[in-house]
Amino acid sequence: MAPFSIHGIGVSNGIAIGRAHLISNALLEVVQYDIEIKNIPLEVKRFEDAIAAVRIELNKIKSQLPSDSPKELSAFIDTHLMILNDKSLSSLPKSIIENEKCNAEWAIKKQMDSVVNQFDQIEDQYLRERKQDVIQVVERVIKILLGHSNQIAAKNKEKLTILVAHDISPADALHFKNHKYAAFVTDGGGVTSHTAILSRSLNIPSIVALQNARTLIRDNDLIIVDGSQGVVIVNPTLEIQKYYKSLQDSWSDEQEKLQRIKTKKSITKDGALIHLFANIEVPNDIISVNASGATGVGLFRTEFLFMNRQDMPDEEEQFQAYKKVAEAMGKRPVTIRTLDSGADKQTALNNKKISPNPALGLRAIRLCLSEPKIFMTQLRAILRASQYGNIKILFPMLSSISELRQTKLLLERAKASLRKDKVKFNEKILIGGMIEIPAAAISADIFAQELDFLSIGTNDLIQYALAIDRTDDAVSHLYNPLHPAVLKLIALTIKSAHKYKKSIAVCGEMAGEPKLTKLLIGMGVEQLSMHPSHILSVKEQVLNSSIKNIKSSVLRLLNLNEVDKIETLLKKINQSL
Ligand code: PEP
Ligand code: MG
Repeated sequence: MAPFSIHGIGVSNGIAIGRAHLISNALLEVVQYDIEIKNIPLEVKRFEDAIAAVRIELNKIKSQLPSDSPKELSAFIDTHLMILNDKSLSSLPKSIIENEKCNAEWAIKKQMDSVVNQFDQIEDQYLRERKQDVIQVVERVIKILLGHSNQIAAKNKEKLTILVAHDISPADALHFKNHKYAAFVTDGGGVTSHTAILSRSLNIPSIVALQNARTLIRDNDLIIVDGSQGVVIVNPTLEIQKYYKSLQDSWSDEQEKLQRIKTKKSITKDGALIHLFANIEVPNDIISVNASGATGVGLFRTEFLFMNRQDMPDEEEQFQAYKKVAEAMGKRPVTIRTLDSGADKQTALNNKKISPNPALGLRAIRLCLSEPKIFMTQLRAILRASQYGNIKILFPMLSSISELRQTKLLLERAKASLRKDKVKFNEKILIGGMIEIPAAAISADIFAQELDFLSIGTNDLIQYALAIDRTDDAVSHLYNPLHPAVLKLIALTIKSAHKYKKSIAVCGEMAGEPKLTKLLIGMGVEQLSMHPSHILSVKEQVLNSSIKNIKSSVLRLLNLNEVDKIETLLKKINQSL
């Protein structure tokens, strides 16, 4: 068959070449048939047994989770158990069986369609994508009803198999560890879907939202997955295979070579120390932080402790999480960002009211100031943990000085309450602010005076400066860190930090992009915080830079007003030593 390509969204980088392993979709096999009145109780019992079997199955998977499995996995399985136990799935289908005298598979599928329909009405992308969890749970029940096994067939233990599925449930993902899949591609999912989150933590190339992969690809077809470009090539010719094999080889050579600089200090040729820190989401990420050679945690996104659950983590639970990271890092700094809940990062706190425009709504510090009790709990937990390491506090999404002053007031109250309880904490704990709203960048001067350090969140800064929703595929092509307005906002923030002798970091995705390293350090950034997997390639750039040599070109670049001219000059800067 002639080669062809399918395009989706690449959510985890790298290249894999292997044979497709198609996972069947039980939902497609559901047919409706009538049940005689006298057999209805039996059909209801069959349904109840299937629900009970799936409950046992999920609990068993959870209890057998290997200790080194990604932390999110256990939380995802809890979510699936919660969905399964909800009466809309565990009870309402019984009424459908009784009223419509139909089979159990049809009843639960019908109920699922109506639940999924309600999810489709939700504006928030993260919540909308949670409908995939409902589908995955129902698929599990239907497979039991149809007498299929819910285990992914142990077809291949070799590394060259690529999983092609409608979507991948977290429980299924467990098997990846044993089967060493080279990549996975799915028809469903999105950038924030569980498939994407898991593939990144498993470190294998992955593409989601392919729509028709399972129709176009046949089991055992030879396919190439290019995670960076979001392309699947089906039945590649020998020539195409050769080309991708060479890309793959140079990718792994590159990764191997980079290991050699892991213990090297991150210093430019002219002696400037650039701190390379890691962004983490859960305490267990410390394992990859240590493996990466990062010298600190520049951003601990604490909202991940609040996700996939209906309750809030209490002070003790949070304290233990922060203490674990602080102790593991020893003297190395750990910057704990207070709860940035809302928009694409939903927690139970956001369930109260669906915002018409979540990115511009009650998120991050605004939400915390409106929920002082929850905020105080977190502040007390962070302060208590500050006894156990080198912790700093970072406040997200500050937009005005009055917001910062309210925040500082609450921090003082949290400190006072600990003193009253005779609980020790670091009285000199440093506090910083994220500069990620254009208004904050423009008034960075005043923030620099009132804070110990600034950290530029380029993901949101770009979103708000260019008016492009981070989660909206339709405008993702407009995302551009090299837009002159974005660079000017960053430059303004750096200048203000320097003026008041405060440290300045970048912790958005820009920090982990090696093509932007020379530009950022040439602009005066002293700390870059990124996903641990990017540390070494950014360090390579630092080691090859001389700030003295690039400074004047960087200044010239900041005065350019056209993106293509900026790109051309940046290429030159990157080639210079
Ligand atoms: C940012 O906005 O750049 C950032 C680092 O924060 P987050 O991606 O968590 O919003
Ligand atoms: Mg942000």
